[in-house]
Amino acid sequence: MTRAIRLICAAALGVLLCSTAWAAPATERYIVKFNPGKADAVRAALKARGATIERELPGHDAMAARMPDAAAAGMARNPNVEYVEVDQKRYLVSHLEGSEAEPYGIGMVQADQVPDTLAGNRTLCIIDSGYSHSHPDLSANVATGTNDSGTGNWYVDLSQHGTHVGGTVSAIDNGIGVVGVLGSGAVKLHIVKVFGDDGTWAYSSDLVAALDVCESNGANVVSMSLGGSFKSRFEDGAFGTAYGRGVLSIAAAGNDGNTRKSYPASYDSVVSVAAIDSAKMIADFSQQNGAVELAAPGVGVLSTVPVGTGTESTVTVAPDTIDSNAMEGSPLTNGSGPLVDCGLGTSACGGASGAVCLLARGDIAFSDKVLNCQAGGGAAAIIYNNVDGALLGTLGGVSTAIPSVGVSQADGQALLGRLGESATVDVAASNYAYFDGTSMATPHASGVAALVWSHFTDCTNAEIRGALNATAEDLGAAGRDNAYGNGLVRARSAFDYLTANGCAGGGGGGGGGGGGTCPLLPKGAPCSDNADCCSGSCKGKPGAKTCK
Ligand code: CA
Repeated sequence: MTRAIRLICAAALGVLLCSTAWAAPATERYIVKFNPGKADAVRAALKARGATIERELPGHDAMAARMPDAAAAGMARNPNVEYVEVDQKRYLVSHLEGSEAEPYGIGMVQADQVPDTLAGNRTLCIIDSGYSHSHPDLSANVATGTNDSGTGNWYVDLSQHGTHVGGTVSAIDNGIGVVGVLGSGAVKLHIVKVFGDDGTWAYSSDLVAALDVCESNGANVVSMSLGGSFKSRFEDGAFGTAYGRGVLSIAAAGNDGNTRKSYPASYDSVVSVAAIDSAKMIADFSQQNGAVELAAPGVGVLSTVPVGTGTESTVTVAPDTIDSNAMEGSPLTNGSGPLVDCGLGTSACGGASGAVCLLARGDIAFSDKVLNCQAGGGAAAIIYNNVDGALLGTLGGVSTAIPSVGVSQADGQALLGRLGESATVDVAASNYAYFDGTSMATPHASGVAALVWSHFTDCTNAEIRGALNATAEDLGAAGRDNAYGNGLVRARSAFDYLTANGCAGGGGGGGGGGGGTCPLLPKGAPCSDNADCCSGSCKGKPGAKTCK
């Protein structure tokens, strides 16, 4: 999957390639970094030493070249060369169907540092569009559900939204796909489907009825990746009443990118969750206001969608795999041919017959660019960004016949240096997808709340909320602010805080450490990880480990 690959490759290299091809015992591939303006001289020197230039990196004053070690040593002494280093291998780390990837948000909220083996004592209620319980990453979860009138079966989700949220809460740690905040399958889930398969909204009264259903099914935490701009006195009262009865409600701050409040998130009795990206920066769409309380990962979140409804894309220009994202609405097909430059693609691309079109973002809709590639006989379309970052685009419902993907500006510019080389673009069905939204941030926070609470069941909802706020990682302006609230929600920090201070907190101070009973597993208990054990040590044969 493309984004997982980007995290590993692009972050490490700062350039596009994730080279998988590697051979040649006699020669090695090196990166030659040279002084500005010396490309021609270095190219000539490389050729004189019998090197094969594999890649020009014009924006970096560098080339990748394959050559014997002695030639590399010689090049390192060339006065035009700054340094020579081995061009390190970067692997395709995982394909989601074949192994499991931990989405970045799980580690960021420290969900992987607190065991969820006790989570069966908590019920987390998700009010959304349903939950595709048959998904291989969700089917092992203990889930019950309720249909709101007219919405259809809770275990069917045709919108993807609820299943994506559900996967962030509880995708199973089973060696495939992804893992959620609560990955052991222990937590009890109750699903209330208030959004029908074709609907994108529900009423406040529907929401209050759903809240009631959550409560009557034993909910401790209610997760709501939904909202609207106008408050309801009735709804406010209902959430206040539920809070008084011990329910911790958590909702999305809203995706309008303004300072308005969204509801239910902005009621006093509901925790409002903002979205941050993998660099802990606030998402531009995340609403900023005095009600924002916590922040959680909500940009480029990988999670489950109903089987076969997601897409994944692969772009290959041998030997490299280029990070890409399928254009929303691209047909599931593949195409290949030589790379041709179609510029902005504002008219039928000449010379595109049987080729893969490289198209710059800008001026006209993505769909028109793809159609102009198609009109020139193109086999596939690669649209590159005109600003930094990945390009996640949509065809806006326009029907096209060839596969189309977005790539970053840097990757696009590098591909312009490889015109004529053979490229393959493949867009295929997947059970996973990357979504952005405070909707995606919310289940991180809800899951953490349930996870932490499962270790401290004597604490009230308000005390758990207090602990999450007290231990959030302060981001943005020092102290609480309207973008990040108290900051990034953190499971382990909250856990340690409650361990040290008890439910009532006590604000700070020193020592932690000794004292109370350890809520983790005792000596001799079966465990899977060091973090499961009071001793911090989980040892033994695979499948039969115990706390030491
Ligand atoms: Ca999994």
